[in-house]
Amino acid sequence: MKRGNVLRQWVGLGLILGLLGCGAEPAGSVDPGQQAETKVYRWKLITTWPKNLPGLGVAPERLAEHLRKMSNGRLDIKVYGAGELVGAFEIFDAVSQGTAEMGHGAAYYWRGKLPAAAMFATVPFGMNAQEMNGWLHHGGGLELWRELYAPFNLVPFAAGNSGVQMAGWFNKEINSLADLQGLKMRIPGLGGEVLARAGGVPVSLPGSEVYTALQTGVIDATEWVGPYNDLALSLHTAAKYYYYPGWHEPGPTLEAFVNKDAWDSLPPDLQEMITVATRAINEDMLSEFTARNNAALVTLIEEHGVELRELPEDVMQRLKALSGEVVAESAQQDELSKRIYASYMAYAQAVKSYHEISEQAYLNAR
Ligand code: CA
Repeated sequence: MKRGNVLRQWVGLGLILGLLGCGAEPAGSVDPGQQAETKVYRWKLITTWPKNLPGLGVAPERLAEHLRKMSNGRLDIKVYGAGELVGAFEIFDAVSQGTAEMGHGAAYYWRGKLPAAAMFATVPFGMNAQEMNGWLHHGGGLELWRELYAPFNLVPFAAGNSGVQMAGWFNKEINSLADLQGLKMRIPGLGGEVLARAGGVPVSLPGSEVYTALQTGVIDATEWVGPYNDLALSLHTAAKYYYYPGWHEPGPTLEAFVNKDAWDSLPPDLQEMITVATRAINEDMLSEFTARNNAALVTLIEEHGVELRELPEDVMQRLKALSGEVVAESAQQDELSKRIYASYMAYAQAVKSYHEISEQAYLNAR
């Protein structure tokens, strides 16, 4: 073979490897039959959470680690915290457009463009974590979620749940409905709309901005998650009163979503690994919060002097009445929103009836 031909072959091979290096490359030498099993997919996973925030931010890190190990390195995902690649509230559009292959957030953050999305995160006075998981995975919820996200080129998965949250941090006591008037509070999703109708001023801020806003008085109050997560954000150093229960987020589902083109590019075994690994972190986050919340609450009260308060009964009743209105109205935009609302409400009513004589009866009795 002439020297020039050899050189051209090497240049050609270099070009091919260079092109494969953009996003995927073979791990070692392969024959075509093995390629599907050895191709490495290098993905970016962008999140709405501060990097490595306990609970919420750790979940996508664990997801990436599970997938790396399960796939023997074929699915190699790098996780970015909020603001590292795009802003916290830009991840939906960024993954939709293919800037990153995967995202991790909460569906109610997209309520502005997609009102029905909030129902896949949480509904005020709605279902708890156990019930949400039942609806999503065995009650038709996930199929509706996929239908809602399909026009945005996204495939969603449930990928975490905090359990019942706390009502939040307040710098003044809430003794009556009058105390909600003009209250500027960080509270996302449908809960924010409920607060607005009760006379408050809801603000939506990503986790990284909550502490400073509260500490500087830009907001009067904030909800975040619960003791374990709130302690990590030091919210107790910016507000005195810690109220319960989290009427606005009774069992919020966190989400992972994958760009549809990226999803379609995967072989079936890697798709199945994502399906199973998201189910694993969906469960793991709830387990971790369950295990750590009480100890964190004891620390907040005993070491930091936080004052624990229950929201008054009349305030809760008013918020519950307003929640029914807000949730019903949020489902009227189009035919799909109506189907999502109908599915959620029918499932919630049925599961509530059974849980009255099972979970709830037991909790009351023990
Ligand atoms: Ca929250």
